Amino acid sequence: MTDSDAPAHDGDPPDGGGSPIGGDLPDDGDPPTDGGDLPDDQPDLLDSARRLLASGPVCDHCLGRPFADRSFGLGNDERGRGLRTAVALADDEDFDSPDPAACWVCEGVFQRLSSFTDEAVDTVADHEFETYQVGTRVPGLLAENDRLLREDAGLDPEAGEPLRKELNRELGKRIGARTDTEVDFDRPDVQFLLDLEADEVEATVNSAFVYGRYRKLERDIPQTEWPCSDCDGTGRDAGGPCPACDGTGYRYPESVEQLTAPVVEDVMDGVDSAFHGAGREDVDARMLGTGRPFVVEVAEPRRRTVDTERLEADIDAFAEGRVAVDGLRLCRYEMVERVKELDASKRYRAEVVFAEPVDSDALDDAAAALSGTTVEQYTPTRVDHRRASKTRERTAYEVTASLAEDDPTRATVEIHGEGGLYVKELVSSDDGRTEPSLAGELGVGAEVAALDVLAVTGEEEPFEREALFRDDRDVTRATGEVDG
Ligand SMILES: [Zn+2]
Ligand SMILES: [Zn+2]
Repeated sequence: MTDSDAPAHDGDPPDGGGSPIGGDLPDDGDPPTDGGDLPDDQPDLLDSARRLLASGPVCDHCLGRPFADRSFGLGNDERGRGLRTAVALADDEDFDSPDPAACWVCEGVFQRLSSFTDEAVDTVADHEFETYQVGTRVPGLLAENDRLLREDAGLDPEAGEPLRKELNRELGKRIGARTDTEVDFDRPDVQFLLDLEADEVEATVNSAFVYGRYRKLERDIPQTEWPCSDCDGTGRDAGGPCPACDGTGYRYPESVEQLTAPVVEDVMDGVDSAFHGAGREDVDARMLGTGRPFVVEVAEPRRRTVDTERLEADIDAFAEGRVAVDGLRLCRYEMVERVKELDASKRYRAEVVFAEPVDSDALDDAAAALSGTTVEQYTPTRVDHRRASKTRERTAYEVTASLAEDDPTRATVEIHGEGGLYVKELVSSDDGRTEPSLAGELGVGAEVAALDVLAVTGEEEPFEREALFRDDRDVTRATGEVDG
């Protein structure tokens, strides 16, 4: 589940609402560049206006729109009104302004802007948002009128700006003023679509996002929901409860996702949620230390500004010590891409069991030999068989080991490795598929009995990039990382 994209009203770059405050910016924002030709231009301008006026009843907006790239700072209706006045004065004719509803070009659509604004504002009355964008679906007939208007007056068929663009901006200005929100062309909280064909304003409420780091304090909890494969998650088998999952439909009864995301969804009053983790640890590994970055996405939230400190406490209470979260912050959707894509190194602590007693010095030497080496790993036997088998290279940055004082067949091994390094295989050698390995260096069989991940750290820079947050909460202490 992800956000909808902006309505596909056309393929143009965003041109919607414009600046909601005083922003009658022409398409490209450039001031007119032909100011030096003004004396020559003047008669042409009035002649053009006369021809436009002769095409039939035309409202001020439609009269001014073909000249939208002139005189920055004016609205098209002001341009139209000015031209109408100038023509009347130049020709010494009685001033006559037609009923805007009678405009043959737009059929009076600009008169309805305030009711469209009401509709837009009502549609999202229950939703908190800070940014928006407006698109307009203009019926073919009106778009054709807009073209014919210019053609009738002998103007370039694309002179000024299209009707759609003016409607986007004018409706956007009104929505912004009414809701005290701002235009965002990139990823607005709310995307409005004025659909003139259907005669309604639709609103798409985009997702809200919360970033944080989780610790998984118990083993045998997957990161995300894990449906039972025996019953395909139905919980039913031949009319009775599925014996493999006791009818729950899940291979594991709970996941980090299920212990965190519903709380965020509830607090933000959304309709659905999704969990995006920065990689994942094995089901049987704990995630300790500074935790693993994640983003919870909430669909169609009614609330976006939530107390993240309180949310942390709510999640921790809900997860009852199985999972805990730290450093929660409101973030932008780009944070989802960042947690999914940023290269990260991992720090592990493995409880290792050897096939026979090991000498402490030999263990130190083996760990030292592995530190800083490039490890070649053929796809481990335990890994999903659907994944293509291949040999890949990962760096073991640092390996340290300490033998248990009371048992020379056990050791605690800490490994700092490049993302994607298979740690269990680095210890065991996976029957020679991983080279080098701790077992290989020692010449003694070795297995990981228990694994904890202690840190997930961006290789080049921290996950926490300030520009991707929507709040200014300082959680430096919580995450141990900082990005200025
Ligand atoms: Zn009009
Ligand atoms: Zn089942």
